[in-house]
Amino acid sequence: MSSTPGSLLPTDLTAVPLTDPIHSGGIGGHPRGLTTLFFTEMWERFSYYGMRALLTLFMVTAAARGGLEFDTKKAAAIYGTYTMSVYLLSILGGFIADNFIGARRAVLCGGIVIACGHFAMAFGSQATFFGGLVLIALGTGLLKPNISTMVGSLYRPADERRDAGFSIFYMGINLGAFLAPLITGYLAQSAGWKTQLAAWGLNPLHSWHWGFAAAGVGMTLGLIVYVAQRGRLAHVGLAPADGARPWKKLGLVGLASLALIATMYASDDHPKIILAVFALQVVAVLGFAFRPGQDSKRIAAILVFFIAAEIFWAIFEQSGSSITLFADRLTRNEAFGHSFPSSWWQSVNSIWVILLAPVFAFMWIRLGPRQPSSPLKFVLGLLFVALSFVLMVPAARLTAEGRVGPFWLVGLYFLQTVGEMLLSPVGLSTMTKLAPQRLVGLVMGIWFLAAALGNKLAGALAGEFKSESAAELTTFFWHQAIGVGLCALALFALVPWVRRLMGGVR
Ligand code: GLN
Repeated sequence: MSSTPGSLLPTDLTAVPLTDPIHSGGIGGHPRGLTTLFFTEMWERFSYYGMRALLTLFMVTAAARGGLEFDTKKAAAIYGTYTMSVYLLSILGGFIADNFIGARRAVLCGGIVIACGHFAMAFGSQATFFGGLVLIALGTGLLKPNISTMVGSLYRPADERRDAGFSIFYMGINLGAFLAPLITGYLAQSAGWKTQLAAWGLNPLHSWHWGFAAAGVGMTLGLIVYVAQRGRLAHVGLAPADGARPWKKLGLVGLASLALIATMYASDDHPKIILAVFALQVVAVLGFAFRPGQDSKRIAAILVFFIAAEIFWAIFEQSGSSITLFADRLTRNEAFGHSFPSSWWQSVNSIWVILLAPVFAFMWIRLGPRQPSSPLKFVLGLLFVALSFVLMVPAARLTAEGRVGPFWLVGLYFLQTVGEMLLSPVGLSTMTKLAPQRLVGLVMGIWFLAAALGNKLAGALAGEFKSESAAELTTFFWHQAIGVGLCALALFALVPWVRRLMGGVR
């Protein structure tokens, strides 16, 4: 990708006087365009997380209860491949925007494709189910990276409000992610809605599809906001002006993305592929680290962060698979004397983000130059996600006596969100700082690739989830906690080396 969050700025923005409403008038005095992108992304994430909250449960539910009746392994593999593709296609989506249609049109096209995908899933056949997943992955690849770079484009290069703008945007993401499972989960799983459907003479087994349709309605609302307020974004995300269109490169990026998806898909039957891909990453780190030149050393550091992030997401992204199954089958889903659908648990991470993000912002400002270096923050991120699974060890043991109380999962999500705050936003900003200027866009794509591979790994790990045996479940959490804990230790030992590779960037 040629463009970067910084360089995407259209030259004419710097010419617009600071008093122009383009620069302010939005949330918290930010550019008005931020409000539009905030609500568009809020609804897009509403649709993504709303559907994701149901996906695993729908696949494993018995056909007699309206589900697809897949076994856990198959469901986790499909879930892993789907969530991987969503993030992996960001590289293709970014490339298309940068070289062909511009971010603004890419977001519009992406949103339309996503909405079609969700509405396809509102129908009851396996063809529309899988077709819908493909459409959502393609559409998200177009929308997600480009809406993020458009946020960056709203600010002049030296604008101090940029980081705060991204934090507000991250809040929009989590507002959507918080609300969605509450609504889609109610429609798909609650007895109340099923009774309502029956009263209307409709089939209550189709409740899942009402949930999927609600996700589509969310994306449609996002599109309405985006189109209605397009005037506020008229100056950003424009298509490249020159006529040359790199069709050949587009073909190559598309083929490489497909080949990677196919390779990782094949890892469901040949797990050694995962080890080989992992070994390749380690070789790449060493290859760059021992090449002369500061740029190579920084790329080696980026790749170390890449591996750490991949491992982090491999645990964190089980939220929609193994952790949802734990919530559904082994947790008492009750609060204040009322029971609630198991999919509602997926809102809890977002509640913690909304509560903790301001605490972290305050803490980083307070600590200033005394705050830990970014590799150390990554170590802490890994440690917290490992601790979240350590917490689940006694919970898993207790399942031998029946369903456990809800506070175990509240604790798990708290620890995971602390880890997320230490790794996810820090990772984004570290990538932009470390990337050689001409490669920032590509490095952003690589950051999403770490999320993609982590999601696939999460699917593979969640495939081992066994709710029937407390002993096996204990091992499930314990082994992963130890594995990630050891990775955190290894990264801790490497911190001084990584800092040297970073060459002065903190
Ligand atoms: N939760 C964030 C989002 O949905 C980050 C996800 C990720 O990068 N894996 O945008």
